Formats: sequence, structure tokens, C-alpha cells
Amino acid sequence: MRSADVVVLGGLSGITAGISCRRHYPEKKVLLIRKEGTVLIPCGIPYIYGTVGGPENNVIPDGLLENNGIDLLKGEAVSVDREKKVITMKDGETISYDKLVFATGSTPLVPPINGIDKKGVYAVKKEFNYLGDLLEVMNDAKDVVIIGGGFIGMEFADECRKGRDINITVVEALPHCLQMAMDNEFCDEAQKKLSETGVNIMVDEKVEAILGNDFVTGVKLASGKELKSDLVILGIGAVANTELAEKSGIELGYRNTIKVDRYMQTYTDTDVFACGDCAMKESFFDGRPVGVMLASIATSEARIAGANLFSPTHRNCGAISVFSTLINGRAFAVAGLTERIAKENGIKYVIGEAEAPDTHPGGMPNSTLTKVKLIFARDTGVLLGGSLSGGKPVGEMVNVLSACIMHKMTADDMVMFQMGTHPALTSSPIVYPIVNAACKAVIPLKGIA
Ligand SMILES: Cc1cc2nc3c(=O)[nH]c(=O)nc-3n(C[C@H](O)[C@H](O)[C@H](O)COP(=O)(O)OP(=O)(O)OC[C@H]3O[C@@H](n4cnc5c(N)ncnc54)[C@H](O)[C@@H]3O)c2cc1C
Repeated sequence: MRSADVVVLGGLSGITAGISCRRHYPEKKVLLIRKEGTVLIPCGIPYIYGTVGGPENNVIPDGLLENNGIDLLKGEAVSVDREKKVITMKDGETISYDKLVFATGSTPLVPPINGIDKKGVYAVKKEFNYLGDLLEVMNDAKDVVIIGGGFIGMEFADECRKGRDINITVVEALPHCLQMAMDNEFCDEAQKKLSETGVNIMVDEKVEAILGNDFVTGVKLASGKELKSDLVILGIGAVANTELAEKSGIELGYRNTIKVDRYMQTYTDTDVFACGDCAMKESFFDGRPVGVMLASIATSEARIAGANLFSPTHRNCGAISVFSTLINGRAFAVAGLTERIAKENGIKYVIGEAEAPDTHPGGMPNSTLTKVKLIFARDTGVLLGGSLSGGKPVGEMVNVLSACIMHKMTADDMVMFQMGTHPALTSSPIVYPIVNAACKAVIPLKGIA
């Protein structure tokens, strides 16, 4: 029987957990087991259909494993005997372990819509060949309907229009696309940017049925409207892949995710850890369970899990939820709470907003206006969240906000923030929008205004 000190089941967060384990415990033998022959960069999947041109250009190289001394076994683990500490593979091979990490991720949510199993209907599975087939179908498609206007649906719409003469419609059940992630003003701006490309956006509309015989020919909306379609893409969320964990007797929690403590150790078995989309998450802000699934959280949890396998080292601070997206050349990003979420949770808050070009002078080539909206707790002045739109720098500015949130910085702290600036690279230090937004919030926070 094959054996390893640590067996990790999974892909993206699995690799990260393996690397973290080897860094902390270089003497340990680590084996990564994964179903996929090739691991895709999950967040890069929409770009397969435009910018990068194919699944082969969007992979996580196995060299990462080799370079970190991690063994790889390709295949599906089908059972775990926790008493004997033995994993059985689909082909019957058995592997013994001392510590086991579940990093089995998530699969796309497929709703029980009439006709959903017709040919030409694709969920966004993280599978190389499946997504290759989708690329071929898309290259022949004339009318694409994307169900779901979250960031996956919006990115797909933006990418699959590139280089194709194709009609694309995004159907979103809520009043705004991206509404689960951003405040209305940013949703409006993102929708406008996508509409400018010719993509048709239908909000407040629900797909009720997929039409056609064997192959999809259209979709029927709850409003009675029908849309012609020879390709339907589902982008409406994901569910945790925890069947194997459940079968092996591991306790599941919120939305069928694996119950773990802040050390990423399962509640059921001290030798079994979990991280990534399959692991339960608690909010950084109030400790309540949250259903957010992001690569940033998955890899952070994986680093924590890998470090804690043989000795408690890091403690998870909870999910801050940081994300960014790019729509028709404009970046949108959020860290922490939006104003909508703050309102829904009865949190008393103060807003500070600012905007500035991301170069100085603003007339430099490719200069883009950055918009920043910060939310501070009314009673303490602590930063709870920040939303941005602008050029590519927004992708890193949101990470600055995430660090400020994690360290509970107040508006006062942020006023004193010393940012590095450069004419061609950043906004002017006089109007740096993160700092200016904080300056504006300080006045009402002090009760002056
Ligand atoms: C289209 C798309 C775009 C996204 N964009 C972003 C983004 O821009 N930013 C962001 O932060 N997040 C983004 N996400 C979310 C992000 O991809 C996930 O949070 C991330 O992939 C989670 O990583 P994971 O390792 O937990 O799970 P997964 O990536 O789902 O990996 C799980 C792996 O485990 C393997 N596996 C499962 N069961 C077994 C088994 N029994 N035996 C062996 N192997 C098994 C699977 O085959 C898979 O390879 C995006 C997701 C999608 C689908």
C-alpha cells in the first residue's frame, strides 16, 4: 500500500495546502490526489473564451508541485476509512495517511429548470475537456443566453463576445446584475460598461424553461418572453463538493460545507482538516456562517491548514470577502461590507466617497478615473468595507482595503496613511482617493457635520 504523512484531496487550495505543509514541515511526505488530469486556473475560466484563447492557456503548472517536493496521484478518491486511515481510489489503489486535508472544492449549481439537461446547456465546471467542448460549441453559436448576472456571468458575457459575431443575453433574476456583491451605483456602472459592448442585459427576469428537443433552441422567461438560443451558460452559483467527506463520517455544517474550527481542523477528527470551497466559512465581522466562495479565501485557508497539520500555527480571522472583476476594460472591486449589507444587518455606518484620476496629471495616456466608497462603523470609526471602480490599479487597491479591514483601521488611521505615489502609476498624493474618502468620513464621524 502506498503511504504519505499528509494526503491532500484537491486542486487549487490543495496545492496551496501542500506547499504550506512542506514549508512548515519539510521532513513530511505530502501526496496530492486530484481527479483532474490538468488543473485550470479557476478564476481564469471566462478568459478561455476570449483573451487567452483556450483551456491549455489557463492551467496551473504541475511544476509547482515538483518544485515543492509534493507527489501527485491523478485519480478520484472514492472512500476514506478514518479508523484505518486509508483512502481508496476509483481504480482500487489504497493509500494510507497520517493527516488528511479535504480541499475538494465546489461544483456549479444546476437548478431544476425544465429542459436543463438538453445539449447545448453548460454549467461552468472546472474541467479541462468539458470547457474545451464549450469553446467549440461557442465558436459555432449564434445566440448565447447566460443565466445569472453575477461576476462569472458578466465575465463570460464580456469574454465570449470577443472576436465573435454573436448575440449575447444575460438574464438576471434580481433588479441589478452583481447585486449580491456590490452597491447599486457600481452595479449600474458595470451593467452600462457591459451593455456598451452590445451584450443585452435583462434584469428582473427569471428563466423558467429551456426550449428545444435534443438541443437547446431557446429559453422561456417567467414573464412569458422567449429568447432564441443555441447555447445556454449557467452562472448562478456553486455548491460545496463534500459527498466524500460526508460518506467518511465528517460532520457538515452551513450549506453542506465541512465543519472546521479556526485552525481548519474538522470538528469530527483531529487528523482531518479542510480548506477552500468545501470548508465552512464564518464572517470576519460577526462570526456568522457565510456562503462566499473565493480563491482568495480558499488559498488563505489552505495556508492556515497546511501550517497547522502537526502543530497549531495560524488562526483564521474569518472571511472578509474581497473580490475584483474587469468588465469591458473597467475594474470593479469590493472588500468587506457593502452599504447594502450594512443596512440589511442594521449596522450604523458613515460613508466617505472620493474620486481621482489614477495618474497625475490626469491627462497622462490611459489615465482612468478611480471611484472609492468606504464604510466605517458609526460608533468606532473602524473600516468595515470599501468599493471601487476604475482602471487596473483597483485590483490592488482593494487588497490595501482588505488589509486595513483585517487590522481594524479607523478613518483616523487612514487619514494618516502614507501612500506611495508616482505620476504615471497612481493618483496624486493630494487627492489619493482612499485617503480622501477617509478624510471625508472623519468629519461626520466626529459629529462635526
Ligand atoms: C468561472 C469562475 C471564475 C472565478 N473567478 C474568481 C475570481 O476572479 N476571484 C476569486 O477569488 N474567486 C473566483 N472564483 C472562485 C474560485 O475559483 C474558487 O473559490 C476556487 O476554485 C476554490 O478552490 P478550491 O481548491 O477550494 O476548489 P476547486 O477549485 O473546486 O478544486 C477542487 C479540486 O478537487 C478535486 N476533487 C474533488 N473531489 C475529488 C476526489 N474525490 N478525488 C480527487 N480529487 C477531487 C476537483 O477535481 C478539483 O480539481 C471563480 C470561480 C469560477 C468557477
